[in-house]
Amino acid sequence: YILTFLLLCLVFVFNLCISGRRRTVAPQELSKTNKRLSGVKPPDAQPKKGKFGEAHRPNQKFYDMIQDFRETLEVTPLSASDLVEAHRICVCVRKRPLSKQEVKKKEIDVVSVRGKGAVLVHEPKQKVDLTKYLDNQVFQFDYCFDETSTNDLVYRFTAKPLVQSIFEGAMATCFAYGQTGRGKTHVSLTMGGDFTGKLQNSSKGIYALAQDVFALLSQRRYASWDLCPYVSFFEIYKGKVGIMDSVTLKNVLILTLQVQVVGLQEEYVSSVEEVIKMIEMGSTCRTSGQTSANANSSRSHAVLQIALRCSDRAKTLHGKFSLVDLAGNERGTDVSCNDRSTLVETAEINRSLLALTECIRSLGRNSDHIPFRMSTLTKVLRDSFIGEKSRTCMIATVSPGMASCDYTMNTLRYFLVFFHFPQTSYNIE
Ligand code: ADP
Ligand code: MG
Repeated sequence: YILTFLLLCLVFVFNLCISGRRRTVAPQELSKTNKRLSGVKPPDAQPKKGKFGEAHRPNQKFYDMIQDFRETLEVTPLSASDLVEAHRICVCVRKRPLSKQEVKKKEIDVVSVRGKGAVLVHEPKQKVDLTKYLDNQVFQFDYCFDETSTNDLVYRFTAKPLVQSIFEGAMATCFAYGQTGRGKTHVSLTMGGDFTGKLQNSSKGIYALAQDVFALLSQRRYASWDLCPYVSFFEIYKGKVGIMDSVTLKNVLILTLQVQVVGLQEEYVSSVEEVIKMIEMGSTCRTSGQTSANANSSRSHAVLQIALRCSDRAKTLHGKFSLVDLAGNERGTDVSCNDRSTLVETAEINRSLLALTECIRSLGRNSDHIPFRMSTLTKVLRDSFIGEKSRTCMIATVSPGMASCDYTMNTLRYFLVFFHFPQTSYNIE
């Protein structure tokens, strides 16, 4: 009996101990504990990283493949010490860095600039069995500028030779071409400048260009010709020319037959500051619409012209330089707002770009017939396509993002097919 009693006592004490430990948990408490547990990471859980150490991104596999490819790529970037070749038609590409939004979306960079004139697009593709692969395509142009290229370097190889050529009596034009948001305004307004800060500070850009004009004017060999610089800055919107002044944007009629811009005033400039003031005033009142690509997209062509005229009574034209920031070449389907006016606007932009392409092609073929009557843009730039001494530089601006790969390929193919005339290059001096 005593033994049984002791055994029962032991069992009772043992049960008491266990029930003390195993407290019943109320359902609310349980859910709280679960929540706490789910928030706590095991000590060894790190954020997932790709092969190259960066945080995981949506297209990690393609990213790794491109990085692998780049490791095998021999890159010799264009440098200021490289020889500047003179081309009658110079075709260039400028790749901009990934924008803040693209970085935020963890977009991957699919464009590599291999060297002076070669640019590679790593097009991400997928086979039927879902295997991912890259279609690497090389495009060869006269010059390719990567995202680290300074505005000064771009100016040195593109507009600078053109500015010099107008002193020899040439009609020179530099175009910035590409979809909205790819850097056309940036490349044209910051030409030669040191671009810093949020706003595109044109005073730091065109400065170098204007400075070059005044420096050459004072050179002894040109000083005797008594040349005077005249500047005009205007936009072409829906086939109409508008003078960009700070008070009103006057639409000026174009005489279709004579191809003469009526009322478009060229202003005599005596200093670099005057040129900058004109551009700053004009840039602020440029017509811009809203496309899905860029809230402040430019839907007009902006033209800056610097004409050198002799100081005789007739003010004979000696040479003219035009810098054209073309309107975005998006397709009709890219324009999110489909109202009639936007569609007409897009159609007009595409028509003028097509006309421009035709004129440059004819120039490249040394054809006698230049179809400049096809659009207002080409009518206004008529001088630039005529004569032995015409020079053209086309700069395609592209984004490196994977989402823009289609557009980038389109722009590059377009440039290769329509503007590339290797036989037009020759060396001077
Ligand atoms: P577009 O005129 O083609 O619509 P923008 O010139 O306005 O495009 O460029 C879009 C944005 O990208 C601007 O904020 C601009 O500052 C930036 N950007 C473009 N090109 C470059 C570049 N090469 N370096 C740095 N930022 C650039
Ligand atoms: Mg622009």
